[in-house]
Amino acid sequence: MIPDKLPGVGTTIFTRMSALAAEVGAINLSQGFPDFPAPLALRQALARHAVEGHNQYAPMAGLPALREAVTEQLRRHRKVSCNPDSEVTILPGATEAIYCAITATINPGDGVILLDPCYDSYAPAVTLSGGHCIRVPLQTGSFAPDWERIEAAIDRRTRLLVINSPHNPSGAVLERSDLLALQDLAERHDLLVISDEVYEYLVYDARAHHSVLQFPALRARSFAVFSFGKTFGVTGWKTGYCVAPPRLTEALRKVHQFVCFVGVTPVQQALADFMQAEPDYPLQLATDYQRRRDLFCDALAGSRFRLRPAAGSYFQLLDYSAIDSRPDRDLCERWAREYGIASIPLSPFYQQAPDQRLLRFCFAKRDEQLLEAAERLCGI
Ligand code: PMP
Ligand code: GLN
Repeated sequence: MIPDKLPGVGTTIFTRMSALAAEVGAINLSQGFPDFPAPLALRQALARHAVEGHNQYAPMAGLPALREAVTEQLRRHRKVSCNPDSEVTILPGATEAIYCAITATINPGDGVILLDPCYDSYAPAVTLSGGHCIRVPLQTGSFAPDWERIEAAIDRRTRLLVINSPHNPSGAVLERSDLLALQDLAERHDLLVISDEVYEYLVYDARAHHSVLQFPALRARSFAVFSFGKTFGVTGWKTGYCVAPPRLTEALRKVHQFVCFVGVTPVQQALADFMQAEPDYPLQLATDYQRRRDLFCDALAGSRFRLRPAAGSYFQLLDYSAIDSRPDRDLCERWAREYGIASIPLSPFYQQAPDQRLLRFCFAKRDEQLLEAAERLCGI
């Protein structure tokens, strides 16, 4: 018999919906990635470094210049200081950072709290480590955590809790009070935390992003995970980083060196150059993406969908309960084929999806795509 350590897990919904969009020629608002180019200077820097011959292994923890650029960005934008040598690790994407953090800390039988709906990579990483997932639902509608309910789910085997703000798929953003509640909970129950902050700069309507790094007692037990792919619009460059206290960083690196060993060198060089030259580039992202969100939402004003503009991330949820009662997966596929519009169903983000009719649309797209997509949606 061929062993299968992930029974019941198939190809991710993002891969499947992007493939379907390409197959049927649908506007692809499914998988999260921008359809407009990353800054020219960044792309030129990558070409320059590859041509100049920076094509051999980087140091295992990441290029020092990039770890320093990350440290400087945290200082400028979050008023947080960290040590680039002992606390910052560059990895090939936030996905690998999360995988390594889970692998480094979870033993067979350990419990990991995941807040449903959640990003699809968390649970399989826990399973592969022999841990078990304790899925606690976020509150219906607001997607806010219910800290009492979360606390009630903790037992003596619970070791880790994963949070994600801004949140994929809902776009919800945690409040400062949530971070304080988490800090208190994690200390009382001696939990580790993975904080997935890949959409940290995509926070709208004058809200603030609150990082675990800004709460010292929380930071002392957290892996904070970020993605250059999101912040610089280069998801295909697969580069992210993790900021964690020295002892957690050591544990993370032990795994990372045997998963991928190092990130891609010229990509790291290019990111370091760009971050040095334009340290405040990320600060204009919220305005840019908020405009795209509003363009999309305003263009849907005459439709039968119900929506609450996303507080953060580049995903907008649309409630189709006034239009159709069929399950979200079926409908996604059907609408890609019939109306030429590809989205993502919410149910794959849950262990047990509630009875709701929600689809996720990525608005990191060019205006004409968003307007055309909205026109098609208005016709449903
Ligand atoms: N976490 C969340 C919430 C995401 O949406 C993504 C996007 N793919 C990731 C992690 C992974 O990021 P990366 O592409 O850097 O691996
Ligand atoms: N994070 C992206 C999304 O949510 C997709 C990344 C992936 O395909 N794994 O759409």
